[in-house]
Amino acid sequence: MQTDTYRHRGQRRALVAELRRKGIHDERVLAAMEHVPRHLFFEPGFREHAYQDKAFPIGEGQTISQPYTVAYQTQLLNVQPTDRVLEIGTGSGYQCSVLLALTGQVYSIEYNRVLFERTQRLMARMHAPAHLFCGDGSLGLPDYAPYDKILVTAGSPTLPRPLLRQLRVGGALVIPVGDASSQRMVRVVRESEESFAREDFEVFRFVPLLGEAGWQK
Ligand code: SAH
Repeated sequence: MQTDTYRHRGQRRALVAELRRKGIHDERVLAAMEHVPRHLFFEPGFREHAYQDKAFPIGEGQTISQPYTVAYQTQLLNVQPTDRVLEIGTGSGYQCSVLLALTGQVYSIEYNRVLFERTQRLMARMHAPAHLFCGDGSLGLPDYAPYDKILVTAGSPTLPRPLLRQLRVGGALVIPVGDASSQRMVRVVRESEESFAREDFEVFRFVPLLGEAGWQK
């Protein structure tokens, strides 16, 4: 496996400066993104693109999210070091690794078996202590619920009820909600067993969340 180099670290510092200029201000998020070697989540031939602020194809019709989007979602999630976090849509494993820089308890679920197996191998080689699962994450991961934070990295038509139910009281869900062409970033805080508070943020464009509580496959 290719390693991290002085040049890559320099490129990450420049990327983090760019994210700061674009309005990301949470120092813990910026430090996490300066720490995680994004190029290792790319196929060898494409690594030169890893430190541009752009989404990029990872195979199977899926993409690694743009660094700005990863920073934006992670900032909204406000991860604390003791949080149990669930990510829906493991993809390349990059966002999962950024979450791991913020808390030791990261669960991530991927629907596409090819991506799941590839990323599971990569994360094992990196000794990344994430708990990875293959399945329909629109239904959450009930076996390990409740979660302090849930992050969805694919665009959803609605707020999936199973995810709301798997939030701890006081916990938060960050999810892009909209149609196939654009989605608004939404944060939902579970204020009590029965009540949820919703805030709406910027508009983004994600690949679709498939599955029972997403866009039917
Ligand atoms: N977080 C990823 C971005 C992946 S793109 C990264 O850092 O690279 C969104 C991912 O969500 C894709 O890999 C897609 O296969 C996956 N996905 C779509 N619907 C899903 C579902 N119902 N459950 C789990 N994963 C899903």
